[in-house]
Amino acid sequence: MRGVPAALAAALLLLGAPPAPAGDRLGVVWHPARPRVGDVAWLHVKDVPDGASVEGSVGGRPLAFFPYAGGQAALVGLDLDLPPGAPAWRVAVLEAGRAPRAARGRIQVRRRAFPVERLTLPRAMVDLDPATEERAAAEGRRLGAVYRTITPERLWRGRFTRPVGGTEPGTGFGARRIINGQPRAPHSGTDYAAPRGTPAVAANAGRVALVADFFFPGRLVVLDHGLGLHTLYFHLDSVTVAEGERVERGQTLGAVGATGRATGPHLHFGALVAGARIDPAALLGLALLD
Ligand SMILES: [Zn+2]
Repeated sequence: MRGVPAALAAALLLLGAPPAPAGDRLGVVWHPARPRVGDVAWLHVKDVPDGASVEGSVGGRPLAFFPYAGGQAALVGLDLDLPPGAPAWRVAVLEAGRAPRAARGRIQVRRRAFPVERLTLPRAMVDLDPATEERAAAEGRRLGAVYRTITPERLWRGRFTRPVGGTEPGTGFGARRIINGQPRAPHSGTDYAAPRGTPAVAANAGRVALVADFFFPGRLVVLDHGLGLHTLYFHLDSVTVAEGERVERGQTLGAVGATGRATGPHLHFGALVAGARIDPAALLGLALLD
């Protein structure tokens, strides 16, 4: 493997490794053991010595590990449109002077029924002229590029907090939307109804990855929490943070509004792990605390 970059060497080991012999197995625990579509799950690799590195993938997507409870952990986003089946996963621990230890398996992802929502919106918000269509597509590509950015450091700690005050749960995650009679993309976040001007706050610590005013999301903030995790705050009336700024959990990002395609003031709150759209409620319930 001399001259082969570490990440590639690890990938080759993962691909070529025979099943680990008994006694050299890795302790790998899935949380939850039977995740659902739209969940943020996490893998806990126990007993990882200092200096060792952990590599792995789920469904062919690489995982980003971080130190946790004497081992290492990685978040796994189970996209709301995940095709049926049981994705394959692999994990390997690489240490100098010791044979790699590996584990692999398949994770059964439970299906989930999403509601169907019928909305009526002004035609100009649905049947776009070519220039607006092009603008929205370009903005979508720009968002996609931000979501796929994997910052190597972990910026979040502890629990995630609601992005608006109150206790009413958010609604609409995964809803199959039929707008003016036409099926559209599923709703990939959760909506919190709140009066215009209500503070919208950071769900956890991170860095402001994007501040923009886009056709569908309106005024928006995207936070990068590191290791591929992003949260989104759409339809804001105003924004009070700047790109590149570090923010703490609970820090005000702006005020709730109805900018972009919105029928009234509300906060659209979204979350992604390595580009996989997850249920923000699952993020708020994440039991990975340190
Ligand atoms: Zn929404």
